[in-house]
Amino acid sequence: MRVLIVRYDEIAIKSNIVRTKLEKLLMQNIIVGAKKFNCNLEKIQRSQGRILLYGDIDCLKLSTSRIFGIRSISPSYEMTFSSIDDIVSEAEKMWKDKVTGRTFAVRTRRVGKHNFTSLQVSEKVGEKLANYGKVFLENPDISLHIEIRDNSAFFFDEILEGPGGLPLMAEGKALALISGGIDSPVAAWMIMKRGVAVDFMYCNITGPIGEKEVQEVVNRIGQWSIGYTSHFYSINCLKIAEVISSNISKRLQSIAFKRALYRIGQELAKKVNAGAIVTGESLAQVSSQTLSSLRSLSFGMDTLILRPLIGFDKLEIIKLAEKIGTFEASIKVPEYCSMFSHHPKTKVKLEDIKEIDKQLDDVINNVILQINSKMD
Ligand code: ATP
Ligand code: MG
Repeated sequence: MRVLIVRYDEIAIKSNIVRTKLEKLLMQNIIVGAKKFNCNLEKIQRSQGRILLYGDIDCLKLSTSRIFGIRSISPSYEMTFSSIDDIVSEAEKMWKDKVTGRTFAVRTRRVGKHNFTSLQVSEKVGEKLANYGKVFLENPDISLHIEIRDNSAFFFDEILEGPGGLPLMAEGKALALISGGIDSPVAAWMIMKRGVAVDFMYCNITGPIGEKEVQEVVNRIGQWSIGYTSHFYSINCLKIAEVISSNISKRLQSIAFKRALYRIGQELAKKVNAGAIVTGESLAQVSSQTLSSLRSLSFGMDTLILRPLIGFDKLEIIKLAEKIGTFEASIKVPEYCSMFSHHPKTKVKLEDIKEIDKQLDDVINNVILQINSKMD
């Protein structure tokens, strides 16, 4: 019988109560993922630190590839056996074509009481398959795995990496500030990977231009939100941009926009019960992300601000964006940041932020009122 073995290292090392809770959550998310992909999932079963999935394995391979908490998967074949010879003959049938003309190694693991050791299984299977290919333990073309649990044996030769982390919804919810650029969707993904469900906030200062492209970025990252239906809050920030352009000195305009984002983000986060806001800031990437700017931006904020990309350089962020499937959509979002970039000040002081707040209070309060009235 074909079966998909699902491994989840990080959950496995938690205390009993936490582990049971997280395993249940992971199983729920796997079921939701299978439904989303229209996969036939006949049975899902926990078994000694693994989850076993029965049904349409090729489809389930895809549907599990975006489930946080999964360390790796292996499409496998499961059989029940009564002697070591059963295992050897099944292994021969399954793998003889695969090893023909290639080097291979057999690796066996065992749980339960048997009258043979793991090494004996590897040796016997290896001997048999040596009629077709060549044993090479150090660096084989193919690694053949056999896992024996009581009277069941699982055969697999593929270990596919999953995203790792913790199951979505294990850690509550956050609000990700999304510009549509390369960084912010990656930041949201990093937080989702730690089990946090994410809603998205976009502060639109360009009107209808670009909105569709940002929506597409949010859709792409939303494909990882299996187990939670993310909300996308697109907020009309045109008035904020106007006030910044006319009332704030040029060198402080970009920091003023960030401050507005933080303040609106904080209010919306409270409204939607998000325990933190997430940004795509990376230390010293641009002038508004120097140590002193980041520190000043947070003055008086009482919401946790998560910046998962803080220590990443641009190349690392781009690689991740490609991996998670947001890069292509992000580079289609029109650039607008030049709007506020007139030799920005890098050493922003508390007084600057106080002045910015004074200038922006009315317009920010209006935006917040609008958000509230829409949501009530
Ligand atoms: P990104 O950082 O997403 O690539 P960017 O580099 O143009 O876009 P920055 O100027 O670096 O944006 O802004 C820092 C962070 O502020 C972003 O990572 C994002 O979290 C948030 N942010 C910027 N612009 C917006 C916006 N219009 N709406 C919501 N959040 C935004
Ligand atoms: Mg950025």
